[in-house]
Amino acid sequence: MLLAIAILIMAGLMIFVAAPLLAPGGPDEATLPIDVTPQGDLKRRRMVIYDNLQDLEFEFKAGKIAPDDYDSLRRNYLAEAAQLMLASQDQEKMSEQEALVERQVAARRAERRETDTESYACPKCGYENPLPVKFCGECGAKMPGK
Ligand SMILES: [Zn+2]
Repeated sequence: MLLAIAILIMAGLMIFVAAPLLAPGGPDEATLPIDVTPQGDLKRRRMVIYDNLQDLEFEFKAGKIAPDDYDSLRRNYLAEAAQLMLASQDQEKMSEQEALVERQVAARRAERRETDTESYACPKCGYENPLPVKFCGECGAKMPGK
């Protein structure tokens, strides 16, 4: 009876230990910290393909794979890698464009801020009122209306 329980526990442990290895995607994907950005996702997929390519190379050299199979598998992997590369270049281009737009918006905002503060500056004491006001917040002089 005790032996049966021990065997059951052992079996359970073995399934528990082996389960991540049997999961689709392999143990690497399960243990890697997941970068959820599209860029990170593409990079991870590319790494997996390069891993596969290395494995393929290794197995081919070890004589485990027929030259024909090796060729077609290799071509598949390379095509996939090329596609991922293109996709991530697109991603980079997009984030570059986003950064450019952000810079332009920031520049425009800074420009506006500059002209704004200028127009709220008191003509009498020079105090830069933070808001458009009728009377200067510092000396109380009437502000030139817009
Ligand atoms: Zn003033």
